[in-house]
Amino acid sequence: MLRDVTMEEISDGKLYRADDLVKADCHDCKGCWDCCCGMGESILLDPYDVYRLSEGLKKSFEELLENSLELHVVDGVILPNLKMGGERDCCVFLDGEGRCSVHDFRPGLCRLFPLGRYYEGDSFLYFLQTGECRMGNRSKIKVKKWIDTPDLKRYDRFILDWHHFVRTLQETLGQEADMEKAKRYNLYVLETFYFRGWKEEDDFYTAFERRLAQARSVLAG
Ligand code: SF4
Ligand code: SF4
Repeated sequence: MLRDVTMEEISDGKLYRADDLVKADCHDCKGCWDCCCGMGESILLDPYDVYRLSEGLKKSFEELLENSLELHVVDGVILPNLKMGGERDCCVFLDGEGRCSVHDFRPGLCRLFPLGRYYEGDSFLYFLQTGECRMGNRSKIKVKKWIDTPDLKRYDRFILDWHHFVRTLQETLGQEADMEKAKRYNLYVLETFYFRGWKEEDDFYTAFERRLAQARSVLAG
């Protein structure tokens, strides 16, 4: 999610690359689950997140929507987010001991936190959010180790492509006066990148690139 704040307000003022050390390691969270609760609709899921959750839990996107995810509109574009619930208003994947029950395939925003991404042109760097993680004695760790994601090079390409695609969609739909057309586009994007699933012969990234090229030409009209 894009936030209307300055870097000075929310970070330590530095930008980091994947090989840099950053003070993000909160030692396995040690009994804290603050950032898994009260997050509203803010933990957005990209297609790779849903692909991993679907594979890990053996559930389709439709099945995940029954209990664990929900859809909401972000600047004119319908996107899925993790659902909060229960008395403590926590993520539905938080177990009774305060541990993440989907840790191995948790969404990208959960793997990133307390880091954020700073996008510039066709690349991005990382920044460390201050005031978000309550663990005071965090240790230094390499950014790429913290992110804990296989095939980081392809993942980064995907992150950039998805980011730019959603931004373009938001700009286009934000100016669209024809509500029926905006709805059709939204349904097309949801079907193409979420509902259809990724049971293809290609790996996720190759299939994603193909669908993205198709979607760009469909939306260009
Ligand atoms: S606030 Fe920090 S220590 Fe607490 S759960 Fe989140 S990342 Fe872990
Ligand atoms: S998926 Fe796991 S890490 Fe992410 S908010 Fe839910 S319980 Fe926390």
